[in-house]
Amino acid sequence: MHQDNVPPELAALVQQTAGGFRYIHSPVCSTSSGTPYLCAPGVAIIARPQTNIGGLAPFLQGFEPSLQFENYLQDPHALPPAAALCKTAGQLCYASFGPKRTHNKDAARYFQNILSSGHGSVLEHATFSFLLYGISRSVTHEIVRHRAGMAYSQISQRYVSGSVLRFVERPEYTADPQLHHAFEMRIDRAAAEYAQTAERLMALQQEGSSLLSAEARTDLRKKVQQAARSLLPNETEAPLIMTANVRAWRHFLEMRANTHAEVEIRALALRIALCLSAEEPILFSDYRFLPQKDGVWSVETDTPKV
Ligand SMILES: Cc1cc2nc3c(=O)[nH]c(=O)nc-3n(C[C@H](O)[C@H](O)[C@H](O)COP(=O)(O)OP(=O)(O)OC[C@H]3O[C@@H](n4cnc5c(N)ncnc54)[C@H](O)[C@@H]3O)c2cc1C
Repeated sequence: MHQDNVPPELAALVQQTAGGFRYIHSPVCSTSSGTPYLCAPGVAIIARPQTNIGGLAPFLQGFEPSLQFENYLQDPHALPPAAALCKTAGQLCYASFGPKRTHNKDAARYFQNILSSGHGSVLEHATFSFLLYGISRSVTHEIVRHRAGMAYSQISQRYVSGSVLRFVERPEYTADPQLHHAFEMRIDRAAAEYAQTAERLMALQQEGSSLLSAEARTDLRKKVQQAARSLLPNETEAPLIMTANVRAWRHFLEMRANTHAEVEIRALALRIALCLSAEEPILFSDYRFLPQKDGVWSVETDTPKV
């Protein structure tokens, strides 16, 4: 399946697991004091649709043989699972199972009609889950504003301890030695201050402070961490697992891989767009990837918000 719309240098960023799940990894760096940080978003598809279009067989057999609905399952061109699912959902709407239907080889044209007519609800059947990491708390605050068709699970700064604390460096800081140095100093300070504050809160807890008291051990730890987290900066990493259907992903990407989007969220949305385009080229074939002066490509389409 071709991705004619994706420039080769962007397509080359996408890797896949042995099971064929796309991802773009982001490596972890650390300051000389050992504070870990990431300089780019990491994205990994961890769930995608599995389709069984053959499951329609008994249903199709229940119609007049002259309609030739059973041949629907004999299409020689296999589609990727999300395209197969959404196309079947769309074709059910008009009982388009007969010989005059759009066959799989013309699926790109079929979906172009879906997009241009705004019949986006058929895209809601296919969902993809991503692990997103190397993203800051300020970016995730923007991501979770997207509600329709989305599900989120985010690391809890109340439940996890300082041992998993990592930070995210913005591209502007990576690009300038002075800002980079200031960033490293700042996150070293934040990590040290977090540890000191948690230690002092723990001591107060042991002295019997009523504000920090709790019945269960987990709750005791939570009371310490929920107070200590107040000093963490916006550039603290806040990993998410985010699930959305294809209609919702498209809207998210069109808003967040846009030239108006903030550069860190655009970098994230671009990576998601690349992984989804590699998984399901037909469903994202209308996307144009455009280079930007700040080095982070944007995405555009003539058929937004289906
Ligand atoms: C460049 C940029 C700048 C921004 N600046 C700010 C800012 O300064 N301040 C700020 O607060 N936010 C800001 N936002 C966030 C923005 O206002 C939205 O909250 C966010 O983009 C989520 O998009 P959405 O509303 O389309 O929601 P989604 O949840 O993605 O919903 C998709 C669509 O479903 C429909 N929908 C969803 N929920 C409802 C509902 N309750 N009622 C009716 N229809 C619904 C709408 O058509 C909506 O567009 C900004 C976003 C961008 C991209």
